[in-house]
Amino acid sequence: MTVHIHPSVDNGVKAGSGSFAGGTLVCKCKDRPVKVGIRGDVAHNHACGCSKCWKPEGATFSVVAVVPRDNVTVLENGDKLQVVDASATIQRHACKVCGTHMYGRIENKAHPFYGLDFIHPELFEHGGSAAPGFAAFVSSVIESGVDAKEMPGIRARLKELGLEPYDCLSPALMDAISSHVAQSRAKAA
Ligand SMILES: [Zn+2]
Ligand SMILES: [Zn+2]
Repeated sequence: MTVHIHPSVDNGVKAGSGSFAGGTLVCKCKDRPVKVGIRGDVAHNHACGCSKCWKPEGATFSVVAVVPRDNVTVLENGDKLQVVDASATIQRHACKVCGTHMYGRIENKAHPFYGLDFIHPELFEHGGSAAPGFAAFVSSVIESGVDAKEMPGIRARLKELGLEPYDCLSPALMDAISSHVAQSRAKAA
């Protein structure tokens, strides 16, 4: 049985160019696509198994990365964007016609990831951005309908692709969150 992770990695993870200066994210609409400009390369690119991230038809995981929010500019057809769930921590701005999530923004200034927007690098018009380096929230794909019996095969495939599977975020990101919590507590004390 073939294990499908995401179309952009199923044939192997493509390394980034190392000199990606930014690009334009384009939604799936043929007519008046939403275009969002990104300055600079992406960071912490990863496969994500959570049920909230946007993924293309048939994909088990999303591929999602972060960029500083100041590097994100809506260039064209921004009138088609709407927030998927205004009560969510990450405000996912999606095209209301094709459903593609163009960027996710955190408005809570106390959040550890405030200042970073979440984007899907596969939407770049041109390749070369930093490649995914791990897989997050792997067990959560079960919540989207994957049979728990398939999990060993999915984890083995992620490892084979060089995307170390974690059931929360990567150790580096979990450490960043805990450091933020520790610092906020020290300030409050
Ligand atoms: Zn669209
Ligand atoms: Zn996710």
